[in-house]
Amino acid sequence: MPESSALPPSLWAATAPPGPQTTPLAGTATADVAVVGAGYTGLSTALHLAERGASVVLLEAAEAGWGASGRNNGQVIPTHPRFDPDHFRQLLGPEKGEAYARLVRDSAAFTFALIHRLGIDCEAVQNGWIQPAHRPGRLALSARRVEQWAKLGAPVELLDRQRTAAVTGSDFWHGGWTNRDGGHINPLAYARGLAHAAIAAGVRLHERSPATALERDGARWRLSTPGGSVTADQVVLATNAYSDDLWPGFRQTVVPVRSYQMSTVPLGENVRRSILVGDVALSDTQGDLHFFRFARSGRLVTGGALVFHTGHETRLRRRIGARLARVFPQVGAVEFDHLWHGYVGITADRMPHLHELAPGVVAWVGCQGRGVALATILGREFARWVDTRSATDLPLPLAPLRPIPAHGFARRIARSALLLYRWRDRRG
Ligand SMILES: Cc1cc2nc3c(=O)[nH]c(=O)nc-3n(C[C@H](O)[C@H](O)[C@H](O)COP(=O)(O)OP(=O)(O)OC[C@H]3O[C@@H](n4cnc5c(N)ncnc54)[C@H](O)[C@@H]3O)c2cc1C
Repeated sequence: MPESSALPPSLWAATAPPGPQTTPLAGTATADVAVVGAGYTGLSTALHLAERGASVVLLEAAEAGWGASGRNNGQVIPTHPRFDPDHFRQLLGPEKGEAYARLVRDSAAFTFALIHRLGIDCEAVQNGWIQPAHRPGRLALSARRVEQWAKLGAPVELLDRQRTAAVTGSDFWHGGWTNRDGGHINPLAYARGLAHAAIAAGVRLHERSPATALERDGARWRLSTPGGSVTADQVVLATNAYSDDLWPGFRQTVVPVRSYQMSTVPLGENVRRSILVGDVALSDTQGDLHFFRFARSGRLVTGGALVFHTGHETRLRRRIGARLARVFPQVGAVEFDHLWHGYVGITADRMPHLHELAPGVVAWVGCQGRGVALATILGREFARWVDTRSATDLPLPLAPLRPIPAHGFARRIARSALLLYRWRDRRG
């Protein structure tokens, strides 16, 4: 991804506690497992592998949390954006579908438990996540989701219009549903906390160490960086939407779609208390997603997508400012003090893909914008997979590597899909 290796000017970069001090890889190193990419996937995988007794080197091109993990909205959401448990069973078969549904169900609780176990200071709030319906027609979706997740024992509940208004502090929505396992975090603080914990567990984390080549070395694999190389029995590629050409064709299996994030200046106490009552996190049913959560400082963190990026700063302030005034009139005219963006990884079938690229090289892509909890729990699954060398218990089937045809073009037109979403959003 042709971008600076500096962190974006996010609220999170301004407020997260510092990450660990690490040095770039120098000379030669050996490990049982080398992990590439220090977002939640790489950090959680490395941590869980080290806790299982493996020796692990973790290479990060920039710094821990530099990718999507340090730029996201920080909503911890135990659902898939598009599909529900019945879909998983249809798509993946009864066994894997059930296993994947359970993994998604458990993902938020697992993430908060991990934060608690490791003592990570990341503004963690587990007061629930709500998905309100933007049209009466979407209430059927809320009911279906509640029914299916409740059957799996998830702490979900349908909300009528009145309760939705009471919880959100807005008459904008028609009802919805909530999952009490959800919540929100400071995403960069979480990534940095995981990095500290991984190092404490024995992981050798090298930041500013982009892996530039991956080659066989006898029965092992060798990853090269500008300053050195690491030889390992197994390699985990945890580069997701920020993948480069380290493995031929891998980058082309996912379309990175730009999502903008912005934070208001801290809101007054009275206004703050009238919105997202109980400090829940919210993302609604629109394709042009409306999403909101508070940060500890009292800033409302929201954002959106644009079809064209020219003049994005001015246009976003106007567009999202108008959205806020529509949804939460009590906020009034408000300034935004941080604005940044990141890339969400979207696959062609909108499902995450697990790959065994070669014996001893594994990877996944495709968080579809819901990876805070999923990447964290998948890290645990990766660690077990790599440690036991058995894919039998994986909650997803292994997928063949299928580069998206005309990937460059797909990247360019992906954002035009937003026009279609907006049109659908208006129809219900
Ligand atoms: C703007 C935005 C908002 C989002 N909001 C939410 C949300 O509210 N809730 C939610 O659940 N999900 C959200 N997501 C999705 C979530 O952030 C991601 O799913 C998750 O962070 C993915 O983590 P990851 O570790 O797989 O990838 P990343 O965090 O992207 O990490 C990949 C890392 O790989 C490194 N890398 C790449 N190539 C190399 C190389 N050759 N050598 C070494 N390192 C390399 C990169 O520098 C990067 O740090 C959002 C995403 C974005 C972009």
